[in-house]
Amino acid sequence: MDAEFVAGKTRARIRGRDFSFAAPFLVENSRGLVPLSSLSALLPRFLGAPVNFRESSRRLFVGDVGIQIGFHLEASNPPRLALNFSAPVNPTISTEPGKLRMVFKRDPVVSPGSQSISFDNKVITQASYSENNGDAELDVAANQPLMASFSNNGRTIVVSTIVVSTATVSTAQPATVANGSPAPPSVAGSGSAPQNPTQAPSPEAPAANIGSGNANTGASNMNMNVHRVLAVVDPAHGGDERGAALTDTLPEKNVTLGFARLLRHELEIRGFAVALLRDGDNSSTLDQRAAAANVAGAGIYISLHAASQGNGARVYTALLPVEGPSNGVFHPWNAAQAPALPVSRMVSAAIVAEMQKRQFPVRGSSASLRPLNNVFMPAVAVELAPGADGIADLTSANYQQRAALAIADAVVSVRDRLGVPQ
Ligand SMILES: [Zn+2]
Repeated sequence: MDAEFVAGKTRARIRGRDFSFAAPFLVENSRGLVPLSSLSALLPRFLGAPVNFRESSRRLFVGDVGIQIGFHLEASNPPRLALNFSAPVNPTISTEPGKLRMVFKRDPVVSPGSQSISFDNKVITQASYSENNGDAELDVAANQPLMASFSNNGRTIVVSTIVVSTATVSTAQPATVANGSPAPPSVAGSGSAPQNPTQAPSPEAPAANIGSGNANTGASNMNMNVHRVLAVVDPAHGGDERGAALTDTLPEKNVTLGFARLLRHELEIRGFAVALLRDGDNSSTLDQRAAAANVAGAGIYISLHAASQGNGARVYTALLPVEGPSNGVFHPWNAAQAPALPVSRMVSAAIVAEMQKRQFPVRGSSASLRPLNNVFMPAVAVELAPGADGIADLTSANYQQRAALAIADAVVSVRDRLGVPQ
């Protein structure tokens, strides 16, 4: 296309039509420079698509791509905040006292109308939105520790408290709520492209109140998934703790996270609620990981590792210290796994069998591998090593997918045995 700019002038011609800049066009080192503040008007002339440029936050959207956020607070005890997005999102999630932070680096999430929404709730009090240096950030404030879980293929993030006192199995499961408007379950997945999340009901969170700040206390549990088992998937390592150096540039923590996300998807489509212990590059201690799985009331805990040596997958169950377990209802921390170990071994055997069925090289063994010893529910660790294509397999979605499919099918096959032994 023809465009004519003149150094030092604010007038230009694009496709034969006049255009005026907010400041003069400049030429430096044989490059033409336009004022940033003119981009919103200038780029659509070239691209034929709407352009939304947020100069102060350094974010530029080409096309009609903004992802909307809907908020739905289920004022149950404990409360759950469902965030519904008009398209799948993949934020980096971190927690600090009183706050759960989601940072959207690549997702074109846009402001929910008001920068801050207050909830009429004593625990989850506020959500606030900000943009800075290319990122959008959503902070949820609470006076108890929070965790987030994804559902609905990345379109819903459920923020809930980590409850220690009451051992309700459903603590960390995605909310299954209905509010005033009738939202029959059959509407879910109807494929209509949602422009507005309030018109995209899902079984997880049928309706969203954007910016209303009005908790819907009329929410009632539909309990369509009474027997939905929570699987806690733990991508080992993270943050400064990088795990093994699989190559010069590939830390184990990256492989475990990608693998965990694939496994989450495979488990979700098989009807499990899934919580990743990290969904970004953050670190936590082994004790914190075990505690998170225990307080969440998980039915199964799966830890994921990766190695550059070996062939295929290794599936581990805990190797308990000789002194445990005790006789009473209390178990030493290092032998917390003891009552669940028989089922853990069934899970391991099922994974080995499913992988063998798929000609995926696999070996099962037990190891004193923390935090397997410290979790109450059936627990396995799966270490992924390269297959026939060598180290490239570790970052191959296809290779990881084959392993994830086998693990998910195996977990389904023993679903009835999962949970904390009574
Ligand atoms: Zn590892």
